[in-house]
Amino acid sequence: MPRFGGALFYVPISCLKGFFLVSYVHILLMKMAEKTIIKLERCRICKGKKFFPFLKLRSMPRPNGFLKKPIKEERYPLDVSRCQTCGHVQLDHVISAKALFSRYLYMSSMSKTMLDHFRTSAKNLVKRFKLKPGASVMDIGSNDGIFLSTFPKGIKTLGIDPAKNLKAVAQARGVETYVAFFSEQTAKTVLKKYGPADLISGINVFAHIHDLDGVFDGVQVLLKKDGVLLMEFPYLVDLVAKKEFDTIYHEHLSYFLLKPLQLILARHGLEIFDAERFPTHGGTVRLYVQRTINKPYTVTSSVVKLGRLEDRLGMYKDATYAKFSKNIQSIPVGLIALVKKLRKANKRVIGYGASAKANVLLNMCGFGPKDVEYIVDSTPYKQGLYTPGAHIPIVSEERLKEDRPDYAIMFIWNFLDEVLKKQQGFLKRGGKFIVPVPKIKII
Ligand SMILES: [Zn+2]
Repeated sequence: MPRFGGALFYVPISCLKGFFLVSYVHILLMKMAEKTIIKLERCRICKGKKFFPFLKLRSMPRPNGFLKKPIKEERYPLDVSRCQTCGHVQLDHVISAKALFSRYLYMSSMSKTMLDHFRTSAKNLVKRFKLKPGASVMDIGSNDGIFLSTFPKGIKTLGIDPAKNLKAVAQARGVETYVAFFSEQTAKTVLKKYGPADLISGINVFAHIHDLDGVFDGVQVLLKKDGVLLMEFPYLVDLVAKKEFDTIYHEHLSYFLLKPLQLILARHGLEIFDAERFPTHGGTVRLYVQRTINKPYTVTSSVVKLGRLEDRLGMYKDATYAKFSKNIQSIPVGLIALVKKLRKANKRVIGYGASAKANVLLNMCGFGPKDVEYIVDSTPYKQGLYTPGAHIPIVSEERLKEDRPDYAIMFIWNFLDEVLKKQQGFLKRGGKFIVPVPKIKII
């Protein structure tokens, strides 16, 4: 996964003492580079150097860097560019993966919507790819093991995830987990220990990975000849169409389209043979990938259709992104005005869902606890902490029952239906939700 070579300073070495000094400086720089940030010089996919920078969100702390106490934090830029050679949309800066993912607070199992999606997916995958008892399924970025836990007993599952804190949660669920960033080296170790995989899945993880080449090298090592790689991620087509700018943050290095992916996959002897779209996370695409040399599956028409759709929507034109950047500005501006108006009328405003998206939006609006009193969240790990940047306290959803705030900003709009069902009580007591994306709406 993400590799951070420290920047090398080439200092003329005239004596041994100088050599040690240079080595020391080099090690120090390596250490610093591991912790901090690098500017992307070349496209992650095609290695091109020509970019169209189209979006500059305000710099902010790590969006999942929740705090025990409000303290002043380091802020990182959040700028997005489009590669003019292959069309890949990516962040201009990369924060060290170690800093982002070694301790991870987002848990896939916290949402019923996702749980249902995982259950249906596992069922369909077993059927479609005839996964019999003894077959091996491995999940990259397995998080708390929830997806793998939905496979029938008898199928061998292995989660691979760098988050040490989630391993115990997954194991308690009966999902064996190997703690590591996925790379060619990890794949070799896993192959020795667990054997090859019939199915490798990566759900909402590829956008997090800087060294995609390393990951596909790893897939080549681990995947059986007729095995399938399943790649699922939020789709850039949906992000642009629905103005989901708050899904742009430091962890999401890449915003994928079909064609740039085809390019990098081809380089690794892999090809997409089917594509599906789902409504999860504001619009998701799932790609089925096979080894080009073995080709166990026929390429379906959905792949060509998706490419055509991207062309038709102008996804390979700079102008589309310039327009997107202009269009989204009204959301933070409108939200600031609305909250100001409500506070003036002595209305109490809180937030719903302390997600990374929430932190992007809070940061864009420059809100603090005076604007948004607290945020409710069902993840026990987050309760009692403060949001990064805005320093708003996070409390349990129970608070909504005793306390009676007037408005709740719906930060997790991707789970809107689920929350509306769950929070009938809040609505009946006169509470209202402010949904910010794609357009400010009060429910
Ligand atoms: Zn490129």
